[in-house]
Amino acid sequence: MQCQSIEELQLLVNKAKKYTDQGKVADYIPALKMANPDSLSIALYYPDGNCYSAGDVSENLTLQSISKVISLALALMDWGEDYVFDHVGQEPTGDPFNSIAKLEISKPSKPLNPMINAGALAVTHMIKGESVEERFQRLLTLIQKLANNSSIGYSREIARSEFETADLNRSLCYFLKQHGIINEEVEQLIDLYTRQCSIEMNCLDLSRIGCVLAFDGKDPLTEVQLIPANIARICKTFMVTCGMYNASGEFAIKVGIPAKSGVSGGILGTVPGRCGIGVYGPALDEKGNSVAGIQLLKMMSEKYMLSMF
Ligand code: GLN
Repeated sequence: MQCQSIEELQLLVNKAKKYTDQGKVADYIPALKMANPDSLSIALYYPDGNCYSAGDVSENLTLQSISKVISLALALMDWGEDYVFDHVGQEPTGDPFNSIAKLEISKPSKPLNPMINAGALAVTHMIKGESVEERFQRLLTLIQKLANNSSIGYSREIARSEFETADLNRSLCYFLKQHGIINEEVEQLIDLYTRQCSIEMNCLDLSRIGCVLAFDGKDPLTEVQLIPANIARICKTFMVTCGMYNASGEFAIKVGIPAKSGVSGGILGTVPGRCGIGVYGPALDEKGNSVAGIQLLKMMSEKYMLSMF
């Protein structure tokens, strides 16, 4: 079943909006505090180019943890599966995204998966290029192609704000360096990672990325294979098992689609073989997921029978 009209979608947004006051905007990255906690927007993108959106879709969000899906795709394209998964595992942690706890007890000492910060830092380290600038441009170019929008850039203000307050991420890097998972200067990796997290777009762009993933890495309009199909499959699988942090299990039951959230309040959704979804609602629940965004996806999953299970 497909969405039929913008009005229909707007009705769901209005219903979900009342949940925004149950959440709080992320403040551990100071620049994220500026977001409007009442915002809620959504875009649905279908392979024929049809798009339905509701809420203030022109509002920009930074990708934050959503970027982990694309950096993983790029690292896999750069190095292949064996090398990448020698350095980062494939199992959910059940812990918060920035937790350091399991790093020490997992044997061998590698982060448990690429969707937690420790794993994402190890993945970003693997992006090939001569300099931070070149590595960042390669990631940004892939993201621009996936969203079919060459004007996508990054927020220097948010990148700087995160760089100045990223000591927990620095500590993860030092642990990874000591254990031979990364071997570059920590400040350099944090610079690249914070820029990656600050890549800025709106939920319409997000929904286009979701649509490419839904069609196995191929842009359904141009038919260009932007990500190899097996890599798109790996990314979607991680989105199911680890994409919503330590709420991934409940999300799989209640919504049932591959999705990845970020502390900005964005959610990238992909409904295999059907459509891409972009959501933005900066008020977060205690696990760091958009509180109204999850409610909205739940309502949509019921209405349009989106669950893949
Ligand atoms: N930039 C954020 C961080 O590393 C990303 C985390 C997130 O979105 N959950 O803390």
